[in-house]
Amino acid sequence: MRWIDLRSDTVTRPTEAMRRAMAEAVVGDDVYEEDPTVRELEERMADILGKEGGLFVASGTMGNLTALLTHAGRGDELIVGHLGHTFLYEVGGSAGLGGIHAAVLENAPDGTMPLSAIADAVRNPLDIHAPRTRVICLENTHNRCGGIVLDPTYVEDVARLAREKGAVVHLDGARLFNASRALGVAPTRWSAAADSVMVCLSKGLGAPVGSVLCGTRDFVRSARRIRKMLGGGMRQVGILAAAGLYALDHHVERLDEDHTNARRLAAGIAATPGLSSLQAEPTPTAWTNLVYFEIDAAAIRSGAPDAALLARRLRERGVLASPIGKTGRELRMVTHLDVTAKDIEEALLALRSAMKGT
Ligand SMILES: *Cc1c(COP(=O)(O)O)cnc(C)c1O
Repeated sequence: MRWIDLRSDTVTRPTEAMRRAMAEAVVGDDVYEEDPTVRELEERMADILGKEGGLFVASGTMGNLTALLTHAGRGDELIVGHLGHTFLYEVGGSAGLGGIHAAVLENAPDGTMPLSAIADAVRNPLDIHAPRTRVICLENTHNRCGGIVLDPTYVEDVARLAREKGAVVHLDGARLFNASRALGVAPTRWSAAADSVMVCLSKGLGAPVGSVLCGTRDFVRSARRIRKMLGGGMRQVGILAAAGLYALDHHVERLDEDHTNARRLAAGIAATPGLSSLQAEPTPTAWTNLVYFEIDAAAIRSGAPDAALLARRLRERGVLASPIGKTGRELRMVTHLDVTAKDIEEALLALRSAMKGT
């Protein structure tokens, strides 16, 4: 049986051509900085993001953690949104392993933290009672805010504020290429203002493993030590970097297809009685490949399934979705490389039938 797997864009499997590129990769020991394929990927991503250098890391979580440990030390403070991936889903690594204190600000629905709230949260460096504010962490696209594209001028505004205050900006750009395709502008439109940027290869780009962390030459030199400390110094890892290079050549422009499928999915969900999705509404910026939706409370009261039961019924119909959050009414579906337009129509049929239980 072939699943229509909409749980995440991390579930993609490497294509035949990508596997061939991996099998044929020229490799060396990357801890000695002798893997030509890794170096090519790092340089290429740094170019795309307008940075001096890049560092291949095992995951987005490792990339963000490496960045935060490079920028800040024990007792320093990080500013992060309450819906930020780094705050919600990275096991508290910056505190657990780095002793970095988090100031958590409320995210607005567009993925931003208000500039005035950031300005208020920055500590007075002369106050011996206060931790020192070192890093402001932004996210684009913003996952928990529905895959929304961050306004590029906002990143510039935060970066200006950070510079005035002696702090830096780290951009969690796990899906930065989705943002770039959705808005039709280069990734540098966001990355140029940030001091460090992490981009995932294993999400919409369809590589099996890996992320790249980019910044200045000095930043990358320090980050390389931190990566080694975290156990992320890998050896003939060009095998994996080759998949990333292949993805940059072949899987960036096709993200448009995922976005089209997601718009169709969100519209179909919104047209289903008892369901609503914010991603069916227009935004001043843009939606991308994530679709969050909600079962209306009134529908549940009159017999519609809750999120867990709906996910079970979908599974029986060959469709996988993720229940999300604590309300028991919210689910997420994500479009990606292994989902076709026809799959979306089938998923919508399954969804309608699962809602009715017929
Ligand atoms: C997935 C994701 C990450 C972490 O990536 P992993 O490779 O799963 O560790 C970081 N930030 C955002 C916004 C993500 O969606």
